[in-house]
Amino acid sequence: MLYQHNFSSFVMGDWIVPSHPSRLVCSAVTGQELGSVGGALDVSGMRDYAKTYGGPSLRALNFHDRARLLKALALHLKLHRKALYKLSFETGATLSDSKIDIDGGIATLLVYASKGRREMPDGFILPDGELEVLSRDGSFLGQHIYTPLQGVAVQINAFNFPVWGMLEKLAPSLLAGVPSLIKPATSTGYLTQAVVRLMLDSGLLPRGAIQLIMGGTSNLLDILDCQDTVGFTGSAATALTLRSSPNILKNGVRFTAEQDSLNGSLLGPDVVPGTAEFDLFVTEVHREMTTKAGQKCTAIRRIMVPEAYMETVQIALKERLLATKIGHPALAATEMGALVSLGQRLDVRAQARLIAKECDIIFGDEGSCHVEGADAEAGAFLSPILFCCPDPDQAVSVHEVEAFGPVATLMPYRNIDHGIALLNRGGGSLVASVITHDPAVARQVVLGAGSFHGRLYFNDRVSQAESTGHGSPLPHMVHGGPGRAGGSEELGGLRGVKHYMQQSAVQGSPDMLTAITGAWIKGATELTAASHPFTRDFYQLKIGETIHTAGREVSLKDIEHFAEFTGDRFYAHMDAEAAKANPFFPDRVAHGYLLLSFAAGLFVEPNPGPVLANTGLNTLSFQKPVVVGDCIKVQLTVKRKTRRTEEYGEVRWHVVLRNQDQEHVAEYELLTMNSYGETKGA
Ligand code: NAP
Repeated sequence: MLYQHNFSSFVMGDWIVPSHPSRLVCSAVTGQELGSVGGALDVSGMRDYAKTYGGPSLRALNFHDRARLLKALALHLKLHRKALYKLSFETGATLSDSKIDIDGGIATLLVYASKGRREMPDGFILPDGELEVLSRDGSFLGQHIYTPLQGVAVQINAFNFPVWGMLEKLAPSLLAGVPSLIKPATSTGYLTQAVVRLMLDSGLLPRGAIQLIMGGTSNLLDILDCQDTVGFTGSAATALTLRSSPNILKNGVRFTAEQDSLNGSLLGPDVVPGTAEFDLFVTEVHREMTTKAGQKCTAIRRIMVPEAYMETVQIALKERLLATKIGHPALAATEMGALVSLGQRLDVRAQARLIAKECDIIFGDEGSCHVEGADAEAGAFLSPILFCCPDPDQAVSVHEVEAFGPVATLMPYRNIDHGIALLNRGGGSLVASVITHDPAVARQVVLGAGSFHGRLYFNDRVSQAESTGHGSPLPHMVHGGPGRAGGSEELGGLRGVKHYMQQSAVQGSPDMLTAITGAWIKGATELTAASHPFTRDFYQLKIGETIHTAGREVSLKDIEHFAEFTGDRFYAHMDAEAAKANPFFPDRVAHGYLLLSFAAGLFVEPNPGPVLANTGLNTLSFQKPVVVGDCIKVQLTVKRKTRRTEEYGEVRWHVVLRNQDQEHVAEYELLTMNSYGETKGA
């Protein structure tokens, strides 16, 4: 199934074989034909199908259900990794390249699965930021929220990461609740197709959640509207054509472009040969030039080195490049495989020739090389090419031409300001790295270059063992960059999910906002519980259920006992004169932590029951001092419920302590874990 190479598309629930095969796809390693794509698909029907079936069924699941779906998909794909690696060799990728692509894609699904469960509500609406109080008495409030778009996510991917490239878009879109039309690049789409087949065969995905377009997108971009998105990864030229199509502009269709980028890496002015940072720099640059044969959007293309060390860096890099084993990607010893196609090799050579007009080749003349286990010419093999640019201020091509292969250029810089100026000459990049052990250099680079780069990566002897690498986009961190890099962003945790959702400002009463967000809001109706809420299972508790406790008077003996018992003899609790001299206190006051303890004593139901543990306390504020003779009472309200495991869920409680005059003394959010008990969600 995985290897049939029939290049069919998955359209409205069926696999459709290409009707007019016209674009040949060949093995990157042998040049042999694997198959072909071609023929127009009913993209309008695909969009309707996604909107009719995929969208509603995804939106019927809540964020946590969707997060569980991502995890299940990831675990299913994990079982098939070996077969996928094998197929990936055809794309020219070595085993370690394939792991970046395949394992990296699976890891992205898992990170989003985890973030979805930890950072999103067990519900359907994602609140954004704090409540805004829009009225004097709190009866009219505002809350920003996100809801899923009701169209389709068109996901157009580049050839270099056929699996990660798809999954890094699919994880956030599925979590948002939006169905996807996936369009992989033709040259490596067969690997994407294999993963799509696996996901569909797993039976985990609702009908219409994903469809696959192998080949052209026909008039798809002309029929999208404001509920659809286009996530594009590829060259700046294609991005420009697609994002400027009249329908995209007319309907304000969200268009995210991740395009090419002339990423720079700078050896810090503090680093000298013989240090850990110097070796680290050479290692990072070499790795970025050779991983995926340099076909990474984040690869280092421009290498900035203090003038004094140009020769030393050149020698060290040349040594590493000379020792790099180029060969059949399936051989264990191979460090660098092939480019993705012969066409791509022609392109890279052409781009390298443009750079050569202004720079000297110091390694890999014309890119021909010895290849172990494969025919260097029949397959798309290319030696790494290292240039040196003696005058990077005058040179143009090195800052403008992206040779999307194992090609990079060394250039000298005079001082850190000059280095920063060179980093920024790329016109906006995905990532800039600086190898330095001096935090002052890092700060200077951020101030001078931050706005030109989507990610800034600093590495030194302290973080090198655990650092993730200049070229690795992480699901937790923003991937994207300004200007030439596309001016968009993907990933970045929940930020990535929000690209598939609409932000709205919602205004209304506390009851309205409670019903909308699923979390009780101060001022909303309080429900009276039939019994103490600590005696009822997770599913029996209702949002808004409230108890008001009896009062407890605070005595001087309580304060002194607490002070002796805990050792907290802060003067405001012990010395009346000193307390009165403090602008916050009228007299000796009770410890805030004493009040919290009294509060627990007032609201806790002592017998074993559904409350398993108190797991935390958030946003605590002490609002009015409590003096001897004050009487405090507690209001405890069920604020939000979140399923956590098969056995128990988290309950967030809104807790208010008031004094005898009904003034707020303290307020916080209490977290408990509560068992599902017999009800189990019934
Ligand atoms: P590309 O030629 O621009 O193609 C990118 C995608 O667009 C492919 O799926 C391609 O499909 C599709 N496409 C091309 N013309 C189209 C059209 N008229 N309508 C709809 N889709 C169309 O780029 P590539 O050669 O695949 O990838 C290499 C480039 O991508 C490099 O410049 C690299 O820097 C960039 N890249 C950027 C990132 C990033 O995250 N910023 C990541 C990876 C790569 P076909 O293959 O069928 O033509």
